[in-house]
Amino acid sequence: MKVNAISFTGKIIDAHMHSGRWWRQSTLYDHTNDIDTFTKQPLSNGDTVERVVVSNLDCMTRIEHPGEAAKFLSNELDGNRRLLEIAKGNSKIIPLATCQPGYGNVENIKTVFNENPSQFAGLKFHSEQLAIQADSEVYNPYMEFATRKKLPCLFHSGQTYDSINGAATTVSKPEQIYNLSKRYPKIPVIMAHLGGNDEKNTMKAVDYLIKSAKSKDSMLYADISWVDCDNPEKPILRQVLKRLKNENALDRIMFGTDAPIGRFGFWGENYVKPIDAYTNNINDIKKMIKIQFGKEADDIIEKIFYKNANDIFIERNWLPNAYPMPAKNNKGKFGIIAGLVVLCLGLLGANISKNTQNKPQTDTNTVTTTAQQ
Ligand SMILES: [Zn+2]
Repeated sequence: MKVNAISFTGKIIDAHMHSGRWWRQSTLYDHTNDIDTFTKQPLSNGDTVERVVVSNLDCMTRIEHPGEAAKFLSNELDGNRRLLEIAKGNSKIIPLATCQPGYGNVENIKTVFNENPSQFAGLKFHSEQLAIQADSEVYNPYMEFATRKKLPCLFHSGQTYDSINGAATTVSKPEQIYNLSKRYPKIPVIMAHLGGNDEKNTMKAVDYLIKSAKSKDSMLYADISWVDCDNPEKPILRQVLKRLKNENALDRIMFGTDAPIGRFGFWGENYVKPIDAYTNNINDIKKMIKIQFGKEADDIIEKIFYKNANDIFIERNWLPNAYPMPAKNNKGKFGIIAGLVVLCLGLLGANISKNTQNKPQTDTNTVTTTAQQ
């Protein structure tokens, strides 16, 4: 094998994973320990999952109180602190702080960042669970914070068109996420699930990726969790990669799974164990790329499975004067200086925003409690 094939095809960053609890029918399952399934052992194909970008479902999963405004299992303080506790036990975890615009307050996010400098690598928003349109102004204080702190933001995205998988979204459309990313062009905004897993919806999301890449009006990216999930031939993903390659935009997409949700939860699916479903998915995608892209395949595999996510979340080379996230457990000079800078900025930010806090709003829209798309 070529050197780059050995060094890169074996390393994987999963850009979309979760800890915490999520509904399956009417039962709430805790998926936190399931992360170990994918990170504590090499996969049977020889690949190693090196890093996983994780957000806490507890901040997204809704509980209903009849007669009251809907609430989440955890608020922004408790849920994000809990994720950092979990990350202490697994050095592969790259934590994202989950935000609850409209219910929480950006001051909570500032608090957990000030308590834990340099721990979170970005923010996570689930517009569907929030039931607030992704380009609503309600997101502004959080996005301003993300811009100031130079944080990539991961947004759940849904279907633009009704398809076999159910109703189109009204709040998580790729178009809305693109609109938001244009308002905050200095930070990467990532569409989770690439707009749904069927061809029409996925291609609509790719339209925006290409628009963003060509016009350079924003840093819109996507992860491929659930795209072509039931087809081992990966025909939609093949089309996605060809279009992005033609537009020189292959840096805009990255591997992610949404594990341990759905078939990657401990029950598996159709008698396939979660670890096998996970490995099969990787094998199928790599096989399709090798068949379709010939001698360019290794480079494309490297980009999708490792480099693009590494560039966004770890190296952060999208910054004009890029500086990477400090290495984990490295409490060297850089960490101390960065900590002091963060503390000063935090104090300054807290002062400035004292009188401009956005008031929590209530909401009574429909709640999604089924497996995520
Ligand atoms: Zn997810």
